[in-house]
Amino acid sequence: MFEKLIQELKCMNEMSVSVAIETDENGYIDKQCPNENCEFVFKVNKDDWANIFKDESVWCPLCRHEAPSDQWFTLQQVKHAQSEALAIVEGKIDNSLREGANQFNQRQRKNSFISLSMKVSGSPKRTFTIPAKAADLMQLEIQCEACNSRFAVIGSAYFCPACGHNSVTRTFRDSLRKIHAKKNSIDVVRRAVIESSGKDEAELMCRSLIETCVSDGVVAFQKYCEGMYEQFANPPY
Ligand SMILES: [Zn+2]
Ligand SMILES: [Zn+2]
Repeated sequence: MFEKLIQELKCMNEMSVSVAIETDENGYIDKQCPNENCEFVFKVNKDDWANIFKDESVWCPLCRHEAPSDQWFTLQQVKHAQSEALAIVEGKIDNSLREGANQFNQRQRKNSFISLSMKVSGSPKRTFTIPAKAADLMQLEIQCEACNSRFAVIGSAYFCPACGHNSVTRTFRDSLRKIHAKKNSIDVVRRAVIESSGKDEAELMCRSLIETCVSDGVVAFQKYCEGMYEQFANPPY
């Protein structure tokens, strides 16, 4: 009676379900660093992912963790794929049960003394997958000066995910942006801390924030000089 179900269950041993991943409005796909201590989420341009990125190595823009290209799914994409796989299994079992019940009902003789019929309740389940949705756009879009691949991040990125290149000038620019952001957020921070902890705390916090801008600037400039000098570190003469 349920030959189809038995056959379907046997097939499930080797079944694989593929779930599409949508790009955002700008054509970027979400990726996440597989390093458990990092899990940095970023985006890569879909065309560049296909044409420039290599299967064997992708680098995290934040921690430079290196891993093959099939290890960069976001936690949300993995969760979505798991629930889709479960939905497909449910759909296939449901279809087989309905088919088995129909066959059983068709075999019953209408004029027999006792008539039996079988009904599978509930609405039919889907047997197709729904693509994983893209996360919100990321404002900072970057193009690597070494390999031309395009990627997007929130905040800042130090390494190109396609070639691992560390751009000295971009890192320096990012540091300057960070200093500007700190300086421009002083009033917001002051208001928030006054509300939660009082004026004294707010004053200490804001002064400390401004002071770190100076040390941030020194460190950024030192790193910039080191990076720029590196290429001349071993002159041929
Ligand atoms: Zn990372
Ligand atoms: Zn690159």
